Parts: sequence; structure tokens; C-alpha cells
Amino acid sequence: MARGGKLDEYRAKRDLVKSGEPAGGRKRAGGDRFVFQRHEARQLHFDFRLQVEGVLVSWAVPRGPSLDPAVRRLAVRTEDHPLDYAEFEGRIPKGEYGAGTIIVWDTGTYRNLTEKRGRPIAMADAVEHGHIVVWLEGEKVRGAFALSRMGEGGDWLLVKKNDEGADRRRKPATTQLASVLSGRTNKDLAQA
Ligand code: MN
Repeated sequence: MARGGKLDEYRAKRDLVKSGEPAGGRKRAGGDRFVFQRHEARQLHFDFRLQVEGVLVSWAVPRGPSLDPAVRRLAVRTEDHPLDYAEFEGRIPKGEYGAGTIIVWDTGTYRNLTEKRGRPIAMADAVEHGHIVVWLEGEKVRGAFALSRMGEGGDWLLVKKNDEGADRRRKPATTQLASVLSGRTNKDLAQA
């Protein structure tokens, strides 16, 4: 699929002039990136995005990631986003798609740990097969997470793997609300 084609749905849903969101096309350097954006829209959620072959493959996670391996978090697949969206923070005006405030809650690079019968699986294939394991190197969130799709075309679950990044007590999704890029909260942006 052409790079532009992957972002057709993203562009079709938005008036990018009004929303101020990135149109895409800019290349970034460094390793493969992940981001959790905290999006106070009509319903609060965290947008989890993984850089895969030139786009950000995306899920909306209503309650955000948990560091407790016993907790499963619903993740709803959403349209692919352009790479430069990983640094987007702002306020999308009322009446526009996704109206509300967005901050970069956590970001960093990730490594693909997905395998099947001991053999590594490429990210694009892992997404298509509905089973992904990634090691995240963020500021608030570190370690391996599994994302698994519940049946063909179904929703996904995001679960922390039991490793050094697991923590049953720390709850960053509800206690650490500031952007790792700007230090701002959603409330700051709403009042700006
Ligand atoms: Mn969102």
C-alpha cells in the first residue's frame, strides 16, 4: 500500500487547517517511536501509537496503560496517523473531529519482541495477525507490553508483561498527568 493511501482515512476525517494537526510527510530520525497521547475529548482516552512502516499504527485506550500484569486494558484500533503526530499537542476546536486537548503523555523508542514458535515476526505482520509484543522505553512506562486482538476484526487488549517495568502500585495513567515534552497538562491547554 502506498504511504499516502494509509493516511487517507486520517485526512478524510479532519479539517487540518482548523484542527492544527499535522498533515504528515515529514520524516523523523532515530529508532522506531511509540507515543501515548492523553486526549481529553468527549471521553477521556489515551491514544497509543507505534511507528510501523512510515505511519503510526494507533489504538484508543480508554483507561491508558496499566503497569500491573494482572490488568487488561481495552484498546480500540483507530486510523493510522502520520509520523509527525507523535509530537503533536494542542487543542482541537469544538465541532472538529476529536475536539478537545491532546498532550504527549509518554513517548520514546520501542523494540519489537513479537515472535511465533521462536521466530521473530515483523511489526506489520504482527499487527495484521493481531498479536504484538513490544518493549517500550518511555519515561513513565518501561518494559514489555502485549497487544492482542480478540478475534477477527475485534477489539484489542493491552497487557503489561511481568518484567522489571511491571509495578502493581504505581498508576501513572491517573497520577502523572503532565506532558513529557512540555510539562503541560490537558487542563493547561484547555485554559490557554
Ligand atoms: Mn484520540
